[in-house]
Order: sequence, then C-alpha cells, then structure tokens
Amino acid sequence: MKPSIQPQAVFDKFYDIDQIPRGSGNEKAISDYLVAFAKDHGYEAKQDSENNVIIKVPATKGYESAPSVILQGHMDMVCEKTPESTHDFTKDPIEFVVDGDWLKAKDTTLGADDGMAVAMMLAIMDDPSIPHGPMECLITTNEETGMNGAIAVKGSDLSGKYLLNLDSEDEGEFTIGCAGGCHVEIGIPLLRENRNHTYNKAFHISVEGLLGGHSGMEIVKQRANANQILARTLYEMHKSYSFQTASFSGGTKHNAIPRQAETVIAVKEVDFDAIKNLLAHLSQVYQQEFTPQDAGLTLSVKEVEAPDLVYADDTVEALVAYLILAPNGVYSMSQTLPGNIVETSNNLAIVQEKQNFISILISTRSSSKSSLDFLVTKLTGLAEVLGISSRVSDGYPAWEYQPGSDLEKQVLAIYKKVTGKEPILNSVHAGLECGLLKEQLPDTQMISFGPTVQHPHTPQERVSISSVDRMYTFLLTVLKELK
Ligand SMILES: [Zn+2]
Repeated sequence: MKPSIQPQAVFDKFYDIDQIPRGSGNEKAISDYLVAFAKDHGYEAKQDSENNVIIKVPATKGYESAPSVILQGHMDMVCEKTPESTHDFTKDPIEFVVDGDWLKAKDTTLGADDGMAVAMMLAIMDDPSIPHGPMECLITTNEETGMNGAIAVKGSDLSGKYLLNLDSEDEGEFTIGCAGGCHVEIGIPLLRENRNHTYNKAFHISVEGLLGGHSGMEIVKQRANANQILARTLYEMHKSYSFQTASFSGGTKHNAIPRQAETVIAVKEVDFDAIKNLLAHLSQVYQQEFTPQDAGLTLSVKEVEAPDLVYADDTVEALVAYLILAPNGVYSMSQTLPGNIVETSNNLAIVQEKQNFISILISTRSSSKSSLDFLVTKLTGLAEVLGISSRVSDGYPAWEYQPGSDLEKQVLAIYKKVTGKEPILNSVHAGLECGLLKEQLPDTQMISFGPTVQHPHTPQERVSISSVDRMYTFLLTVLKELK
C-alpha cells in the first residue's frame, strides 16, 4: 500500500517504481516504464543500448531563458535480503515499512539508493506547476555493479549547463569531486626448485585479525595491509636467518584492503625456536604500531610438514622487495578541500600464484590525474628496477574539483537560505558516475546531493522521510532560482 507520508508526490512515485524489479543488470522493465511515463506526459524520451533513459522536459512558462539543467540518478538497486526472507528480486515488489521518521523495506534493501532520485524526477515531471528551466532527466543503469550505463552515455545527447546528481546519502553533504583510478599488475617470474634438505622444519605463517575495508572509502583509516605485513615479516627474518619460501598469497578483492595473507617457509632445525620467538616478537611490534586502528593484528604461526618444492631465491627476493618498497595506503591528502580527504592512495590488494608468475594486483586512486600518473610511474618504475614486469589497466576518470564554480556558489547559498544550515563539501575517494559523465560533458558544472539514506546495500537500508521533504523542497528551490 502507498504510505501516507510527505512529500506525498515523491513517495507515491517511489512506491510505483518499487513495484518493478530493478536490480542491477535487470533494468529493461523499469527503463521501459520511464520511457512510457515520459511519453504519457508528452515529453521526448530516448532509451539507449544500455537502457539508460534521457527525458527532455521543456522549461515551464517564464523560465525559457533559465540555464538548462540535467537531473541525474540511477534506476538500478542493490538486491540484498535477510537470510529468512523469501523475496524474489526478479518478480516481487518491495514492501514498505514506515517506522517513525524512517521508511524501510520488509526484509530487503529499499532501493532509496537511488530510487529516491528517480522518484523526485518523476514527481517534478508530473507537476506542470513546478517552475524550472529546460531540464534533461538522465537516469542510468548498472551503477552498482560497474557503471556500464554511465560509461555508455554520449555527451552529444545532452546539453545541460549544470548537472545535479541525486545519489548522495547524507543530507547537507555536497559532493563536488571523486577519485579516478586504475589497476597496476606486477608479474614476478615464478621459478621453483627442490627444497634444500638442511631446511627440514617448516612454519605456516598467517597475518590475521585485520579490519580491511573498502580500499577507497576506508584507506584514510591507515589500517594494516596483510600483504605488506607478511613481506615485511620475511624481510625481518631474513636479516638474521636463512630459510626457503614455498608459497605466498594474500587478499581476495581488488577494492578491499587485504585482511589476510599467508606463507609457508622451510627453516633449519637449529633456528626453529629462535624464528618462532622472533615471529612472536614481530607480532607484538606490529600490533603496537597499528593500535588503535587495527588492534587485532596478529601473526598466527604453526608448524607444518616441510614442503618438497620452494621458490627460487630470485622469485622471493623480487616479491619481498616489491611488497616492502612499493608505496601503500594514503599517498597524499587533499589541500583544496577542507577536512580529512585523501587525494591519492593505492592498495597492494591481491598477491596470488598464477601459471608461471606471481601476480601482485594494485589498485590506485586519485582525485588528481597528474598525481595518479606519478604514483603509477613509481609503481611501474620500481618493477623495472627490480627486473620484473608491470601492466596498467582498467582506468576510470576522476571528477576533478573546480573550486568556486557558479553552480557550487549558487547551490550552497540556496541550501543555507532554505535550511539555515552550513553545507559540507566532500570529494569521494572512489569512482562515481559523475567522473564518467564529466568525460563526456567537460563543460557541464556538476554537484551531487540527496536525502539521508542509512545502511545502503543492506536489508537495513532506510531513508529519512523528513530529509526527503527538506531535500525535495531544496531541489525545487534550486530549479527555480538557478541562473
Ligand atoms: Zn547509488
């Protein structure tokens, strides 16, 4: 049932789109619905090969000479449900639950990320009495799983001077930039040989208890990187003891700070106890160094059977040297934005054995193109010095902050006037659709905001009803007053 909450026009539209399954990759039905909605209202609509929809809405009377504005959001949603739920995201509608100031869903994600943007656009299109200049509603697909929609958008289909992205989740926070990035993959020739019989005891060493987290959003927390900690451990041991290394791996996702890494080493019987003591000591040293941000860090050590094959010395040396010498984590902080915002960072994400080489996958990010290029130069340059290979791929563009744009000044002033509150500026240390759109629309000024949505991408997702009310009023004021 449609909930009776204000602004009714927005929540009615949100209810309508939440009747249509719209998980990422399953957007044809919602995309067709949006095109039909536009045609019913007499607006020109275009659906492209990725099912993105662009609806052209002429200016209301008296606003013909106002600057043209693109309203943008994504139609897809993350599909998550509680373990008990029997919800089928391919055919069931989302069920609404009102709980005080919060609207949430019964046992599933709500889809306020980013259905709230779509609902606001539909509410505006549905009400001819709302004053606005020439408007283009750009509703993209697949934002949550690869941004394929935004990648396919063509600048020639749009003409907005300004773009308002409605996919931010903290009322009062205005996003004005995002990081771009790429992957660097290092390849170390994997040479193996028989274990020397003098190394007849072995340890399995594992770096454990780390918090990890998203390698963009959480890199600022300066948590430990399991791959680097493990390489550092081998390097420290090597100062006093000789041993052979039989395996080395760590990390599972390109966009996560690795929480776990493990190795097996063969040692001489005579060194067995001393190495065990050294590992216990290093575990304490690391724990102290990474407290409070990663206080659970431990080296877990157990004796295992000595392996038959070990890495050749050249392989281990290059692997350990690369992992301890490569920059990792926060590389620089933004000096143009207030607060604690990372400009450039990287993450030594995954170390794994492949066919005939050991791969180190590194994910780099920066809101400055030149700073990113310099970090990539360091990462590939270090590989070159060590005589190992490197490959750069999967680049996505930054949305570089342009301080003091016309759009920023006007939007922030209107926000202060409407709410009486001080706006906060934010640049996101991860890729956003605006970064991709900016490539196609270099002259369009962009800003992102939205109502407060908590716990997105989880079944606890909820949107603040009063925040939708305030942000909708704010959006209507912006459309009316933008010059
Ligand atoms: Zn979103």
